[in-house]
Amino acid sequence: MTRFPDRVFAQAALYDVTVMLPKPLEVFATGSPITSSDDGTATSTRFVSGPVREWAASFGEFDAVSTITNGITVTAYQAQGDTLDIERVRDVAARSLESFETRFGPYPYRELDLHALDWGGDAGIEYPGYTLILINTQVNQRTDFVVAHEVAHEWWYAVVGNDIYREPWLDESFANYSAVIAAADRLGPEQAQAIYNSEIKAAYERNLSAGDPPAGLAITEYASFNSYYRAIYGKGAVFLATLRAEVGDDVFFAGMRTYYTAERHQIATRAAFEAAMEGAAGRELDPLFDRWLGPK
Ligand SMILES: [Zn+2]
Repeated sequence: MTRFPDRVFAQAALYDVTVMLPKPLEVFATGSPITSSDDGTATSTRFVSGPVREWAASFGEFDAVSTITNGITVTAYQAQGDTLDIERVRDVAARSLESFETRFGPYPYRELDLHALDWGGDAGIEYPGYTLILINTQVNQRTDFVVAHEVAHEWWYAVVGNDIYREPWLDESFANYSAVIAAADRLGPEQAQAIYNSEIKAAYERNLSAGDPPAGLAITEYASFNSYYRAIYGKGAVFLATLRAEVGDDVFFAGMRTYYTAERHQIATRAAFEAAMEGAAGRELDPLFDRWLGPK
């Protein structure tokens, strides 16, 4: 457990969870529901998961919209009575999932659930096969970025784990830059560049103005949440864009696929990522990694 902002650093494990609820409450959760029963006043639903790092669920009465993409059921939920555009949340999530399967490798679970809540700001919290999407009154382009970022965490956090305490860039910088990759696939390069500028480059420029701390530090080595945010969500994502420009698209995505495949259900490290990229590039990349992340 960490103080902020993400909470859980855990090995992957198999979960088998049975949820009993008084009617009419419903549940959706990490994993797949495999059996359910109903005794008239209560329901019982058993969920089993593949390898996951934690288990999360929502209980309540929901409206839901689903689609099946690449054989995976993507469902966006909201509490009954809420009027968020969950069709758009579902569609951006499904398109992002398609992008990441093509670019990085297969999503290993059967389902992806998204719980949209009107929260007064755009943010998200990722869990395996399940994510909270916090929305500022209505779904807009900022929400789309958050949805793609949270879906990317299924690759960078849920499947490829990392020590979110000591190497937070390995999930947050990756998720932020992956959201731009999904935007490029969905909207084309010009709109993706505009999103990159507002979501990533702006944070990096604030990092530059604040002494330019490297992106490879532990959470506790940043002076504040803002400092952490600028370096990890800004500079670390600019590093990935810079690395991609340096080695070229073919090498970059070959390296990402190698890293994803090798580190599935493991705890990845900077060294593992660097080795995958150096293997794809056929040369050492130490100076570039050190310049952006700080010395090892
Ligand atoms: Zn994140």
